[in-house]
Amino acid sequence: MGTDLQLPYDERVYDITIIGGGPVGLFTAFYAGIRDASTKIIDSLPQLGGQLSELYPEKFIYDVAGFPKIRAMDLVDQLIEQTGQYHPAVCLGEKVLNLIKREDGTFELHTDRKVHLSRSVIVTAGIGAFTPKSLPGDNVKEFEGNGIYYYIDDLKRFRNKRVLVVGGGDTAVDFALMLDGTAKAVTMIHRRDQFRAHEENVKSLFASGVDVKTFYELKAAYGNTALTGATIIENRSRRTEELEVDAIIGSLGFSASLGPILEWGLELVGNEIVVDSRMGTNIPGVYAAGDIVTYPGKIKLIATGFGEAPTAVNNAKTYLDPTSKLHPGHSSSRKE
Ligand SMILES: Cc1cc2nc3c(=O)[nH]c(=O)nc-3n(C[C@H](O)[C@H](O)[C@H](O)COP(=O)(O)OP(=O)(O)OC[C@H]3O[C@@H](n4cnc5c(N)ncnc54)[C@H](O)[C@@H]3O)c2cc1C
Repeated sequence: MGTDLQLPYDERVYDITIIGGGPVGLFTAFYAGIRDASTKIIDSLPQLGGQLSELYPEKFIYDVAGFPKIRAMDLVDQLIEQTGQYHPAVCLGEKVLNLIKREDGTFELHTDRKVHLSRSVIVTAGIGAFTPKSLPGDNVKEFEGNGIYYYIDDLKRFRNKRVLVVGGGDTAVDFALMLDGTAKAVTMIHRRDQFRAHEENVKSLFASGVDVKTFYELKAAYGNTALTGATIIENRSRRTEELEVDAIIGSLGFSASLGPILEWGLELVGNEIVVDSRMGTNIPGVYAAGDIVTYPGKIKLIATGFGEAPTAVNNAKTYLDPTSKLHPGHSSSRKE
């Protein structure tokens, strides 16, 4: 049995906890709702949608049954709406670091913030947890968490502050627009004059009070105990400029790694979890689905993950309650 005395416990024990809120995790949560299981989703990203929202939100997907063509972010929105009918608990910005089975069969999921408790677990962690790419530049490490941030989890922190946002993707533009009106001044620097963000968002950015500087990069952060400024560099002329800022928000994308999952005692082949035809792993009570699993003939697609999700949930249901039916009946006979 493992405990972590430093971390707060979330006392409620859920029937099913899903590690990863990508498309497969979202559909798994919906299906767990159909089977009347109390459900929690934990994801390390600040938003749901996994690879779709992080890597290709604007790309069209042509191979999901029922949709001749759908924008990735629209598919995520539909999944969130479908799953939301059953109100699963959702914990974002939390990376599951450890999975421990207690003697009474309850699972402890240790994240970087809390310990969560669950009677069964479904791992839908895809290609792993996404972590923000660190900002380059002198003294950045020194101010991380104290002036330099990678998420906006509390807008109030930036009230009346001078903030510099670094990046040119959707998240960077969203961050700058969120801060406009709350922060005292918002400057955004981007190394190119092309933005990877949604066209409408970029239009809103240029119509906002944000001071947008293209062809600029961060060179250094400075201050004594608190951050007071940043040196930025115009990357064509190599001319530097000093900006007085109280906070810097880095938004240069994320990199994914399975990291801690490799240490949980799960049977693996390379970076994939071995599952049987019930989507069960070698640890009773732990199931898996989506890109993270392997079995003979596995294909890594959204459509195949959507098929694996109900198999994992229905088998988890019979693990939780051996008297319950494996086959759930029709979705139209579910409880509203
Ligand atoms: C550019 C590109 C285009 C693609 N196009 C298509 C396509 O057209 N059609 C198609 O079917 N497929 C496509 N795919 C593949 C598709 O995106 C994947 O099959 C799908 O995302 C798998 O979903 P998933 O839910 O299993 O995993 P993911 O989408 O990877 O989601 C996993 C989630 O788990 C979270 N996570 C991982 N580890 C932890 C942890 N320890 N703690 C907390 N959270 C964790 C991650 O943050 C992530 O949000 C494409 C992929 C790419 C990269």
